[in-house]
Amino acid sequence: MGGLRREVEKLKKKIGSHRWDLRCPECGWEIALYGDVPVDLIVYEWEQGVPRQQRGPSSVPPGVVALCEHDHPAGEFIEKRSGLPLSDPVVSGFGETSAPRLEDGV
Ligand SMILES: [Zn+2]
Repeated sequence: MGGLRREVEKLKKKIGSHRWDLRCPECGWEIALYGDVPVDLIVYEWEQGVPRQQRGPSSVPPGVVALCEHDHPAGEFIEKRSGLPLSDPVVSGFGETSAPRLEDGV
């Protein structure tokens, strides 16, 4: 478990905190979140796999929980500034070694 926590801290430093304007491509629901949303999503998913008594208090912000509990997949939400899905490595910052995929026409 400690390894993941360390990774998360590293990612948090890399991404920094900023505002995310997200829109559900299925129903148009919009939510604005602050912080490290891609990291929080990973933490949320990780917490779902850990028995509650081992988990301790959740470190996931309520807004991210709302996003995850929405009827449609959180990873498909569009980040409005870039127009790319939240799961896209360019948006999340997890794929910085790969070049932006300009051929997608976005
Ligand atoms: Zn939706």
